[in-house]
Parts: sequence; C-alpha cells; structure tokens
Amino acid sequence: MASTAASRVLAGLENVRGWQEGFYQDLHAHPELSHQEHRTAGNVAQRMRDAGCEVHEGVGGTGVVAVLRNGDGPAVLMRADMDALPVREQTGLPYASAVTATTDGAEVPVMHACGHDVHVTCLLGAMELLAGATSEWTGTAVAVFQPAEEVADGARGMVDDGLAKIVGAVDVALCQHVLAFPAGQVGTRSGPTLSAADSMRITVHGRGAHGSMPQASVDPVVLAAMIVVRLQTVISRETRPGDPAVLTVGSLQAGTKSNVIPDAATIQLNIRTYSEQTRTAILDAINRIVTAECDASRSPAPPEFERFDQFPVTDNDPGVTDRVATAFTDHFGDCAVELPLQTASEDFSDIPKALGVPYTYWGIGGVDPATYERAAKAGRVADDIPVNHSAQFAPVIQPTLDTGTSALVVAALAWLGRSPGG
Ligand SMILES: [Zn+2]
Ligand SMILES: [Zn+2]
Repeated sequence: MASTAASRVLAGLENVRGWQEGFYQDLHAHPELSHQEHRTAGNVAQRMRDAGCEVHEGVGGTGVVAVLRNGDGPAVLMRADMDALPVREQTGLPYASAVTATTDGAEVPVMHACGHDVHVTCLLGAMELLAGATSEWTGTAVAVFQPAEEVADGARGMVDDGLAKIVGAVDVALCQHVLAFPAGQVGTRSGPTLSAADSMRITVHGRGAHGSMPQASVDPVVLAAMIVVRLQTVISRETRPGDPAVLTVGSLQAGTKSNVIPDAATIQLNIRTYSEQTRTAILDAINRIVTAECDASRSPAPPEFERFDQFPVTDNDPGVTDRVATAFTDHFGDCAVELPLQTASEDFSDIPKALGVPYTYWGIGGVDPATYERAAKAGRVADDIPVNHSAQFAPVIQPTLDTGTSALVVAALAWLGRSPGG
C-alpha cells in the first residue's frame, strides 16, 4: 500500500485492537436501554479524556461529545449510537448479555441486538488513532456518542441541549452502521439510503353492546377490520410503482370476550418512505381512509391519531458520499461495495440537519465471510443470517472492529488529511 495519511494513521491499529476487543466484549455484556446509557457513557468519556480529547458529558441526557483540535482545517463530525434493545440474547456467545433493566415499570432483558456496541468501540478507536498521529492531519475531529437512537429522540435531544454550540462550525458529518453482510466490507450509497419511519396509534370508537344484540352497537371490531383491509390499497393503488414504501399494521386490539361488543379498537401501524412527498401522501391517505370508514360505520366520535417513533429519511449527500466512496476504494479495494437501499431507519440525520452540514451514512459488514458465502451459495441468506434486532444478531469481532475503525479514519482523513491549501 502506498504511504498515505490514512495508512500512516492506521499503523497504530494494532495497539488499538489490543484494548478494543476486550472493551467490545465488556460493552456487549453490559447493554443499556435508550436513555439509560450511564455506564457506557462513563466508559466512553474516560477513554476520550485519556486520549486527550475535550470531553462534554450529559449532552441530551447521557450523550458524550469528544473534541480533538489539531490546528486550522476542516471539522469532521462522526457519530456513534450507544443504546441497546429490550431483547433476550440467544447468541450463545461467551460474552452474551444476561442483563435486565426496568422500563415503563417492567423488567425486560437487554441486548446489543443492533450492534451499537460495535459503533461505540470503532469510534473510540478511530479517535484514539487520530489523537496518536496528529502530525498526519489538521483540523478538528468531533466524536458524538448519542443515546436513544432506538426510540428516535436521542439525536434531537443532543441538538436541543446545545450540540451546535459545543461542536462549533462543522464541515461534514459521518456515520456508520454494522449490518448483516460480510465482515470486512464497507458499503456506501448516494441519495436516499434509509427510510423515514412513522409509527401511529389510531383509536376508533364504537358503541359497546351484548354480542347477541348487534343492532344496539356500533361494532369497532368490524370497523377496525375494514380499515386494515382498506389500508392495504394505499401502497398498492396510490403510490407510484418503483417508489418504495411500506405500510404495516403491526397491532390490532379490541374487546375482551366473545359475547361482548367493545366500544373501541386500537390499530398501531408503521410506515416507511424515502421522500417527504410520498410520506405526506401516505399520511393523508391514512387519515382519509380512517375518517371515512368511521363515518361509514356510524362511529359516535371522531378517530384519534397519535404519532410516535418518527425517524427522518437518511438522504446521503452525493458529493460527500463520492469523496468517502473514493477513499474507501483506495483503502479497501474490492471490499468497498455499494450499499443497497435499506428499509431500516435512523435519527442520525437530525444532527447534520440541525447543524446545516452535508452527511453520508455507510454500512459495515458484521457476518463471518465464510458463513455468509455458504448461505449465499445455498440461497439461504434470508433464512440463515440473523439481521439487526434479532436475538441471534452477533457480529464477528474481527474483521468487523478493524473495518469499522479503519472506515472512520479513512473517511475522516478524506477531509482532515488534506494538506492545508491542498
Ligand atoms: Zn436498531
Ligand atoms: Zn441501530
């Protein structure tokens, strides 16, 4: 490999790897739910302080910001999310989580089922590498360790708590996520990459009565059923073929007993879209269909709509993505691939949007390459490879950590590594 700023900074990777693997296993064994990332944040802050960063704790609750100033030059923001999920781990790993936590008054198992422990470990490593090789770059590296990605409000929480003031002027924002493709690979994508997500709880009202006397009721069970069926036409009949969108009714609840007609029904649904226009059109269609079905059923009160867990679309800036993709190809060769469009969602883009800077978000593989190849050959990737949020999601430690750490360094140096004026 030609001697580049990236290769010279990454010469320190072996030292970083020495603590990273143990740190990762410890973090994996001690996952924390959204807004409860106290232990994680404490460990992150300590490591960043030891690396010589200016550290801000408690940003937006449990968020941590580490700033590394190294003279004049561009400022690059990198973000890692820290929270875990209420999932009972079934990986069988020696460092599997046995942790539980209390949320909404209930005790639940907790697992790093989305790989945020990988993101934290890689960003710590990248910052330490940059801190150890300040002669190779110039500018400012900012690491944002964000709480509560899984509940979609951690990024906004940090923004609302003065993130812009802490980080100052930033030129670009970068983010990565470990995904279920071969470890060692990095995948970039220009334009819309992750969907916007909207969750909604809809309550429709009826009039309860004895199950034997339907004439005295307005039956919300039938009403809700009609709504669920009619909602299937929104994507199939109202959105343009080729414009990807998803509308899933994940929950439908009404009644308690076979011979009691209840007085209300509740529908919970989830929407995924890639443009504001499609998103608005679908939300309007849901409103129209629910309201009209309630009218058709003689519903005695208007339906109630409650929105929650709203994620923005992640729309990668073409110029930024191109610069990162070129740097990845130079460094990773054939392992730099194109990331397919993802139906998952993220709140990362709330940060660059609030700061007014362009961004890109890429994927790193976390699946053992041989395992992946076997599954691909047998046509069994969807059956055999656990994806994020699965109780079996278990990124291989290497080359995942090396790749994620290197990807951040390589991408950041696409800005920071430029000689001043060059
Ligand atoms: Zn997740
Ligand atoms: Zn995630």
